[in-house]
Amino acid sequence: MARDIDKSLKPATLSAQALGWLDPSTRAVAPPIYPSTNYARDENYEKFKNRGYTRDENPTYEQLEALLAALEKGAGAMVFGSGMAAATTVMMALSPGDHVVAPSIMYFGLRNWLVNVGCRWGLKVDFVPPGDPVALANAVQKDKTKLVWIETPANPSWEVTDIAASAQIAHDVGAILGVDSTVSTPVLTNPITLGADIVMHSGTKYLNGHGDLLAGALVTAQRDELWERMNYLRFENGGMLGAFEAWLLLRGMRTLHLRVERASQSALRIAEHFEGHALVREVLYPGLSAHEGHEIAVRQMTGGFGGMLSLRVKGGAATAIETAKALELFVSATSLGGVESLVEHRATAEGPDSPVPDDLLRLSVGVEDAGDLIADLERALAAST
Ligand SMILES: *Cc1c(COP(=O)(O)O)cnc(C)c1O
Repeated sequence: MARDIDKSLKPATLSAQALGWLDPSTRAVAPPIYPSTNYARDENYEKFKNRGYTRDENPTYEQLEALLAALEKGAGAMVFGSGMAAATTVMMALSPGDHVVAPSIMYFGLRNWLVNVGCRWGLKVDFVPPGDPVALANAVQKDKTKLVWIETPANPSWEVTDIAASAQIAHDVGAILGVDSTVSTPVLTNPITLGADIVMHSGTKYLNGHGDLLAGALVTAQRDELWERMNYLRFENGGMLGAFEAWLLLRGMRTLHLRVERASQSALRIAEHFEGHALVREVLYPGLSAHEGHEIAVRQMTGGFGGMLSLRVKGGAATAIETAKALELFVSATSLGGVESLVEHRATAEGPDSPVPDDLLRLSVGVEDAGDLIADLERALAAST
């Protein structure tokens, strides 16, 4: 690196300039990609900068990981081949017999992993309702619980969990707190500053923001023995990010603040527009003062409430699916956090075991004109009733 801007500058500045690094050998402003799988030893038969094989480490990650750590105010960051690879690395850094408390409403892939793999592997997992500190305090066990996992706001009904209160509950019994902050993004919330030990992101979503790669990340409050264990697991389990994806992700992150701010503004406008609407039973969005988690959201989300909201439509599952089909701007597709708006009937996506109400449509608001998005929803709702 030939240049590193002052880390006390505002996060939007840090990400727009990707910390301001210049390629030291060429002064290129856009960084190089290092696709090489292996690194030659030097004339003394020593590893150069301790590099050997790219499953261990790749220089294309350096700027990306430094930026993630700076944005989340953590001590270290690790990128992974997907959000799931990142999250399951946290779980596998535990030992068989360890107790984990996780929310009953959370990213369903990770919930499935805990039930189908984690439990078989010996983790003892209890699920508690999201955003309920009393249930969480009752579920943790002194010296047995090693990890409290939360996701806030929680997909797809956007319950808000108090990060600082959860950290206190976890630490009181000797556990660590891990936060899936994919939906909040480092723009709106920094869980480490609220007491979290690990922050996890699906980089597939807002960090990249363009729906064209899979990536994940962990940021930790400390570079301690746990960090070493997770770094070892990344290497030996092989969940590394490809060099090209790392480069694309850093490029996507340069516009992170613009995208998240715009999506948050539009989501709030859409939520306010459809609150009390004749064809909508309920709008689920933490930015609405009627939302159960609004007060906590005001405290721990700064600059907006995110680009995700859900509409429960009147008329049940059939009307919800018809509405999704009638939308033209909102693309009927899974995933979230991209520049284009998406709609999904989550009960269909998650299948028969899903706890999601069948009249719920999840919206991922992109960066289009908010008025156009509202008009699309108005038209589709009217056409489906
Ligand atoms: C998508 C997502 C994940 C999983 O990330 P992948 O990159 O798809 O592996 C985890 N948590 C949340 C909240 C997500 O939206």
